[in-house]
Amino acid sequence: MDNGFGFADAIGPAKMIYIHEPAAGLKAILAIDNVAAGPAIGGTRMAVDVTAEECFRLARAMTFKNAAAGLPHGGAKSVIFADPAMPPADKERLVRAFAQAISDLAEYIPGPDMGTDETAMAWIMDEIGRAVGLPRVFGGIPLDEIGATGFGLAVAAQIASEATDLSLKGARVAVQGFGAVGLHAARFLAKRGAILVAASDTGGTILDPNGLDIEKLRALKAAGCSVADLSSGSRAGPEAVIAADCEILVPAARPDVIHMDNVDGIKARLVLQGANIPATLDAERRLAGKGILSIPDFIANAGGVIAASVEYHGGSERTAFEEIEDKIARNTRAVLERVRASGAVLPREAAVELAHARIDRAMALRRYHR
Ligand code: NAD
Repeated sequence: MDNGFGFADAIGPAKMIYIHEPAAGLKAILAIDNVAAGPAIGGTRMAVDVTAEECFRLARAMTFKNAAAGLPHGGAKSVIFADPAMPPADKERLVRAFAQAISDLAEYIPGPDMGTDETAMAWIMDEIGRAVGLPRVFGGIPLDEIGATGFGLAVAAQIASEATDLSLKGARVAVQGFGAVGLHAARFLAKRGAILVAASDTGGTILDPNGLDIEKLRALKAAGCSVADLSSGSRAGPEAVIAADCEILVPAARPDVIHMDNVDGIKARLVLQGANIPATLDAERRLAGKGILSIPDFIANAGGVIAASVEYHGGSERTAFEEIEDKIARNTRAVLERVRASGAVLPREAAVELAHARIDRAMALRRYHR
């Protein structure tokens, strides 16, 4: 019998909460995975197609990410079931109703995720007095505006390039999902000499071996168009980006987009996991077997949550960039060293070991986890 505890293990989840508020048309799930190190920080996603299990897996990724980054926070994730493209006034009503529904769950601090942004976090802050990824006017460090996660991905790429013979200067980059993470990853990688040769969104893929104009792509997205609407380059379907000719592939869209059916088409030598859980475990094994280095999500894309933690503890934007650089460089190095020393361990396994040791240390000091 499935009593809903199917994914419970020694770490969590501490709570799976189903929220239904008919008066507001609100249906939501909150997975609070582990709070041993402190209140859990994790995104609030607005989407129509997320399962409870996916929500839990995303919460677990946050537990590992926060522990791996050495933050005094556990991991959680929430999903509001709705179309994020709804009229703003309806969205505000729904987000405020969600905030009220979680107001007593002080061990959960919401942050921005797909379908939500700093304005949504401001509404939550206004309702219940806690949220991260706030607008500047609320003393926030706007994660997506400054590109905290994209910056961290570029730092991870730098360390990976130093550990291999892949130079970032002239390295060709393909980015799947040209949203907050993908755009800024492209921008910060370009600052280190890389060239964006492929970018995609749900509207398709745009390719140009001579390099795509990142600012033009940014303007297209800001105008509500697809990257595939760019006037130069060649167009292909959304899936084409995965097999693009490049040295660095940055999946920055959805979970499980790299799987056994498309992994063999990947030409990149380095996969920087911008999205959470963008590859199935089988596919990660296959990548390693083919000599393709894949830096796991919760090491490479921790920039946003590191900045969020700095914000929560009252730090500045400048401190946030320093902390991201320091923590992601250190953790990427630690993971690569462990992989090299063992010869057999996957980067994800090495990263889990690193995070697990910190979670175990925190849990050993707690009687209950709430
Ligand atoms: P976003 O909504 O700003 O952008 C997502 C982009 O992906 C959009 O351009 C969308 O068109 C595109 N997309 C969606 N499905 C696609 C598909 N099947 N193929 C190609 N493109 C597709 O979201 P974001 O904030 O950039 O987040 C992207 C991913 O990164 C998510 O998995 C999120 O959980 C993860 N993440 C985000 C942050 C952050 O700081 N924003 C931090 C860590 C992880």
